[in-house]
Amino acid sequence: MDGYLSEPRDLYRGRALCIVKPKDASEVAKVLALCNERGVAVAPQGGNTGLVGGQTPDASGRQIVLSLQRLDRVREVDPASDAMTLEAGVTLARAQEIAESADRYFPLSLASEGSCTIGGNLATNAGGVHVLAYGAARDLVLGLEVALADGRLLSTLGKLRKDNTGYNLTQLFVGSEGTLGVITAATLKLFPRPRSRAVAFLGLDDPGQALALLNVVKDRAGPALQAFELVPRIGMELVIRHIPGARDPLRAVHPWYALVEIAGFNEGEAERVAASALSHALEAGAARDAAIARSLDQVAALWRLRESLSEAQKREGGSIKHDISVPVERIPEFIAEAGRRVAARFPDARPVPFGHMGDGNIHYNVSQPVDADKAVFLAQWGEMNEVVHGLVHEFCGSISAEHGIGQLKRDLLAKTKDKVALDVMRALKKTLDPNGVLNPGKLL
Ligand code: ZN
Repeated sequence: MDGYLSEPRDLYRGRALCIVKPKDASEVAKVLALCNERGVAVAPQGGNTGLVGGQTPDASGRQIVLSLQRLDRVREVDPASDAMTLEAGVTLARAQEIAESADRYFPLSLASEGSCTIGGNLATNAGGVHVLAYGAARDLVLGLEVALADGRLLSTLGKLRKDNTGYNLTQLFVGSEGTLGVITAATLKLFPRPRSRAVAFLGLDDPGQALALLNVVKDRAGPALQAFELVPRIGMELVIRHIPGARDPLRAVHPWYALVEIAGFNEGEAERVAASALSHALEAGAARDAAIARSLDQVAALWRLRESLSEAQKREGGSIKHDISVPVERIPEFIAEAGRRVAARFPDARPVPFGHMGDGNIHYNVSQPVDADKAVFLAQWGEMNEVVHGLVHEFCGSISAEHGIGQLKRDLLAKTKDKVALDVMRALKKTLDPNGVLNPGKLL
């Protein structure tokens, strides 16, 4: 059972009565009906890649893990309606391939896409690198099939773009982290497939210049702008130090970098738009230097630099993580002020803020001081959170931009979320799960 009881960051380790692996939605519903009747708590689990402990059972050994991995069928692909219906256990990478084989594009993209599943992506409203252009998982779903605690199957599956018939039950379950029902299938949106893709890496003085760059590129590329990621020099140094084959893409050293991805719907279009946007940016002083990938290998190498940041930070030692969002325009101010406050309280800690600047989501991770004791540093997790999340509150931001709440931020949510909103959430939970068997101890 071991692989189902621990999680990627090793922050949580649970125990379980057993791992239950139903093969279809009706079996999921039957398992829930039985558990509801006997008062056995259920921890639903997809690819087990979540970063907040939402998929890990508690330590009592009296819960079951409900793995959705065997629900991996493709129910329908309908390119003319730009929709596909997949079961919950289909991995995100496979969902992308299924779309591509129908000459369409499914834009959700994140580091764990090889093993995370569609059900988990929707249950946690996953974000990733293309939120700027296409929205989060929430924006990519047309309908759901959900097993309810009492063993009924609720279906809002369907390919309609317009359906104005009352409460949006689909969206109620997206981001509910398995506390209101268990997603067994989803109808997802498909998009036109980009025919060309340009990726550029830019050297910058500071996050203020990144904001200016973002505005120039948005202005020049419009909806073709697919991703805009921010990377600090220290992050780049960690990647070069710890990830074999990683190299500086620019000749000079810059304090900050941006990775920009632009799509085109005709051959060569992305390269043309990127070249024009970047020359405007350089002329306007919105970047110091730029390199454009010339081949698919170079595109992959640039993305690898960005996507290796978490792994490089892990190899460097302990790091205290924050998955925050603030209004895009305030990111430079946030990074500067957070740096000052962290330095005042933890003088030798090393902030490595990086991520999805284009949609306002920064992973404000702080690495341990050089040669410090990892455990001693990590013991300050709560104190560090208070500093960073306090500032997030002042900036009208969110304490969880894309990773969810799970166990990690449950108590924090209770302290920071609007009281009326929490009341309504608890009332919904009580209605749909009166016996409290659906993923108890998570989210609320
Ligand atoms: Zn992210």
